[in-house]
Amino acid sequence: MAGTFKTEAVVLRSIRYGEADRVLHLYSADHGRVGAVAKGARRMRSRLGGRLEPMARVNLVLHRGRGELCTVTAADTIHAHPALRERRASLERAVQACEAVLRLLDSAEPNPAAYNLLCNQLGLLDSHARAAGRAQALAFRAKLLLAAGFSPELASCVSCGEREELTGFSPAAGGVVCGSCEAGSFPLGAEAHEFLVRALANPLSKAPEAPDRALSQADRALAETLEHHAHVRLPRVAA
Ligand SMILES: [Zn+2]
Repeated sequence: MAGTFKTEAVVLRSIRYGEADRVLHLYSADHGRVGAVAKGARRMRSRLGGRLEPMARVNLVLHRGRGELCTVTAADTIHAHPALRERRASLERAVQACEAVLRLLDSAEPNPAAYNLLCNQLGLLDSHARAAGRAQALAFRAKLLLAAGFSPELASCVSCGEREELTGFSPAAGGVVCGSCEAGSFPLGAEAHEFLVRALANPLSKAPEAPDRALSQADRALAETLEHHAHVRLPRVAA
């Protein structure tokens, strides 16, 4: 569809292009993933360029011509997230969040749950003086899987429906399994299971904590679910 449209978006990635331009990977509120060129964005005094840094949340006016990429005709900052850029640990978590959205959500369909989740995560990383820990980063990832439609089954054994004695996780089957159905699964302890359930139930700002061993199991469950069902490989969430 050609023409000019407005949308709110987060800049996921910004790549140098030509002499002074940038190609932007955007995740937008109304049009899902959008690719756009910001002309002249790398010139010294470009007002546009300063507003289109990665992880910035912006209001955009975009023009879609015949090519694959839109052109940015105007940009206004909603939130630049300046504080998170000054703390390396927060910056790494923010880059990770943007990368996960980039890899997992490539459709032009709007996904308000995913968009709001990303905005929340960047806002939290910006406003907290202490860097978000591994548990918080994993809670974001669990919620992102849910928003993208790849959330693992956690309530009962994916194989037989048993609700007690859930001891393993089967990435191929996409969820928890009981002791009798554990073929092809790896161990998922009670703490890891509870962490995932609570991460999905709680708002991002109240992400649960769990011991590191449980977080490693939860991380593996999320990563391997994505590999099997979305064919996407994301780096593990480091401590
Ligand atoms: Zn079972």
